[in-house]
Amino acid sequence: MIRSMNGKNPRLQIYDLRNYRKIPQIDRLPDDLKFEMEVVARVLPFRTNSHVVENLIQWENIPDDPMFQLTFPQREMLSPDHFDEVAALVEKGAGEAEMARTVNRIRWDLNPQPAGQLEHNVPREDDEKLDGMQHKYRETVLFFPSQGQTCHAYCTFCFRWPQFVGIDELKFASREVESLIRYLEDNPQVTDVLFTGGDPMVMRAKNLSVYIDALLKADLPNLHTIRIGTKSLAYWPYKYLTDPDADDVLALFERITRAGKHLAIMAHCSHPAELQPDVVSKAVGRIRGTGATVYTQSPILRNINDDPDTWAAMWRRQVDLGMVPYYMFLVRDTGVQHFFAVPMVRAWEIFQNAYQQVSGICRTVRGPSMSAHPGKVHVMGISEIHGEKIIALRFLQGRNPDWVLRPFFARYDEEAIWLDDLEPAFGEEAFFFEKELAQLCEEDLPSGQWDEMESLVLEGVEF
Ligand SMILES: *Cc1c(COP(=O)(O)O)cnc(C)c1O
Ligand code: SF4
Repeated sequence: MIRSMNGKNPRLQIYDLRNYRKIPQIDRLPDDLKFEMEVVARVLPFRTNSHVVENLIQWENIPDDPMFQLTFPQREMLSPDHFDEVAALVEKGAGEAEMARTVNRIRWDLNPQPAGQLEHNVPREDDEKLDGMQHKYRETVLFFPSQGQTCHAYCTFCFRWPQFVGIDELKFASREVESLIRYLEDNPQVTDVLFTGGDPMVMRAKNLSVYIDALLKADLPNLHTIRIGTKSLAYWPYKYLTDPDADDVLALFERITRAGKHLAIMAHCSHPAELQPDVVSKAVGRIRGTGATVYTQSPILRNINDDPDTWAAMWRRQVDLGMVPYYMFLVRDTGVQHFFAVPMVRAWEIFQNAYQQVSGICRTVRGPSMSAHPGKVHVMGISEIHGEKIIALRFLQGRNPDWVLRPFFARYDEEAIWLDDLEPAFGEEAFFFEKELAQLCEEDLPSGQWDEMESLVLEGVEF
């Protein structure tokens, strides 16, 4: 039984480029800082909200405050050239058309997605592309419900932003879910569906239930786990407490677990500050009361959480709240992310140091790992073999499942950020999977073109 919460019912107040100067704490900032934010926010989507502003940011500590860094634009997110170009337009009060032309060109420059690559993961049936789905690893299908392609606030590091700056094609939920169900029926190896976005938990319970109840009604024996990737516990925990549909959300969660399916809330959690407010612990308590398990994951980000004590504190707090630490991810060095990327050797050192500080109960977490083209690659550690310093790696997920857990070794490189920065160790020509990967991709590659919608499906960022 879901007991209603009484008391205050805060309303989500969104702040973006149009109204952010109304935030009292912003109004007090120096004009040049406001100008810089405004310039960057012309290019990169900017959105924050009343909960983040009032409860998560320590304003006496800005601009260094990690939650400020996580949601407010910073000058260095743009290259100096791009910054100056947009700044000049803002200063001269350029018209909308001129601004849009420049901004779109810069966005295009920043788009980290090499054309064609995404085709590999979009499933097809009868040679028809199934939009709104991504299927890369055998067990798990990613599903992007069309009304879930936004978030309660935007993370500055996120490169899903192409989908926030204009979705041209909204489709009917019922049609999308029909093709998902058909796909699951035809692919009995799939056990997990991961609802992702944006943030599916921006949807009203009524809309989310269109998808979920249809899935439950289809009674698919192969479907074991429904996962929902969400940042709502950090950015809007009232979704589970006092929003008008809070009780309906929880009732929906309960229908999933009553149907005998595992409900995994994949909470995106980047800093312990997100978990501090009392409302978060209440929200997690209510979610767990439905029989769901809350798992946590985050990228490691420069200026936000690139320090071991932060991770150790975060995992401990998660365990206090009954959450299960799940993944630490690396971010790629492209587009805006150059600002946030932490080299993998450094990330591993931070991970190892944090891991040492916590008990085995927190050590359910895996990482650091990167969602690279061939698979999810785990940086296992630094070592030395026969006098050669190396980085040991392995796949946690692979385009070919047979690659999973096979250790492989790269030459030690303190600067390397991503898998393709690495060279094989011991004078080898190539990593063990490379030849096969090339073959797999050739076979996969459909004749087709890729269109902009496909930039919805991004590799290298995790949610
Ligand atoms: C990480 C990931 C998954 C899920 O992997 P798990 O290890 O099962 O959590 C599924 N699909 C894609 C594309 C992923 O990146
Ligand atoms: S990381 Fe998640 S919550 Fe943050 S902007 Fe990207 S999709 Fe939204």
